[in-house]
Amino acid sequence: MNDHAGRPVYMDHAATTFMKPEVVAAMAPYLSEHYGNPSSLYRFSRESRRGVESARERVAAAIGANPAEVFFTAGGTEADNWAIKGVAFANRGRGNHIVTSAIEHHAVLHTCEWLERQGFSVTYLPVDGFGRVDPEQVEEAITDETILVSVMAANNEIGTIQPIAGISRIAHDHGVLFHTDAVQAIGAVPIDVDAMGIDLLSLSGHKFYGPKGTGALYIREGTRIEPFIHGGGQERGLRAGTENVPGIVGLGQAIELATVDIEGHNRRIAAMRDRVIRGVFDSILDLRLNGHPTERLPNNANFSFRYVEGEAILLLLDAHGICASTGSACSSGSSEPSHVLLATGIPPEDAHGSLRLTLGDANTMDDIDYLLEVLPEVIERLRRISPLAPPSPRAPEAD
Ligand code: PLP
Repeated sequence: MNDHAGRPVYMDHAATTFMKPEVVAAMAPYLSEHYGNPSSLYRFSRESRRGVESARERVAAAIGANPAEVFFTAGGTEADNWAIKGVAFANRGRGNHIVTSAIEHHAVLHTCEWLERQGFSVTYLPVDGFGRVDPEQVEEAITDETILVSVMAANNEIGTIQPIAGISRIAHDHGVLFHTDAVQAIGAVPIDVDAMGIDLLSLSGHKFYGPKGTGALYIREGTRIEPFIHGGGQERGLRAGTENVPGIVGLGQAIELATVDIEGHNRRIAAMRDRVIRGVFDSILDLRLNGHPTERLPNNANFSFRYVEGEAILLLLDAHGICASTGSACSSGSSEPSHVLLATGIPPEDAHGSLRLTLGDANTMDDIDYLLEVLPEVIERLRRISPLAPPSPRAPEAD
């Protein structure tokens, strides 16, 4: 493999992140000496209980909540499932209608589709060409039967940030609960659940340098919601099962680190992202930037290159040690392009040639230079063998 200086160039931070050394260090004692069950009554278990409760305080502080409103889960997918199914079933007496957007993560979309099979009805709002939900369309979609609006804070593929406060205000004006999937937003968008009118919020530890398989659901005090996992009395009887103590401790440490200086972090990451975007447009023709030009996550650059397949780009980048992602996933058995890209109205053939680069703390400007050296050659090489590409313009002949 033609790695850059012998190491992979990791540009897929929206898929997952490495664990910061401070996170690993915080977890270590809970993987060994502090192994007591947090629910046990003897003194030995106190340290486990303390670890869990102090993580709860850290998560709460990061989003402007009270610790009693934070419930630990096994990730973002579980938090999304719980928020939507839990609210749907607890509020069934009031109505059976949910409003969400067409570009949500499958953790939300497939949950909503399942609820439709249980007799609920769901409106999937369209988005504009930049991937933004229009709050006015939220208002038009709400009926007397609506019990929940769920719109993500930021999109995982194209990075578009939604006008959450405006959408939640409309939901509340109609007495409807508001949930947001903030899995990609934590650490990049400052979150205050009160100021933003959020009743339920999903987050996931492994997206902000915490452990995989950890997450949390914020549930505003007084929200009617069904328990998600039945069993013991953990998580105030709403999410049973012995706690993943080391994971929860790591999540708490990670969210504190991720939210201590969001502005400084964003400045550093956006400088790299902007250099990627400029460099790619300067060296490659026939492409578009997907997502919103300004209301986008600081780490996200998503391009569509005409005449090439996203998967082929990934394979050639991988051969150069660059890890990236695409919205065109033929290998998973379907050659359907990303539902997010299609919802923004781009033609399927352009959606097929998409490349998502998500930067983060694993990157340096040196990585960006390397990408900008490799990517134009990769696209050029693929276009040379693409039956769709027009012949490349010849250099004018000398007289
Ligand atoms: N929601 C969004 C927006 C995501 O990007 C992801 C993960 O990619 C999830 C939910 C699922 O989170 P997890 O991997 O913790 O289950």
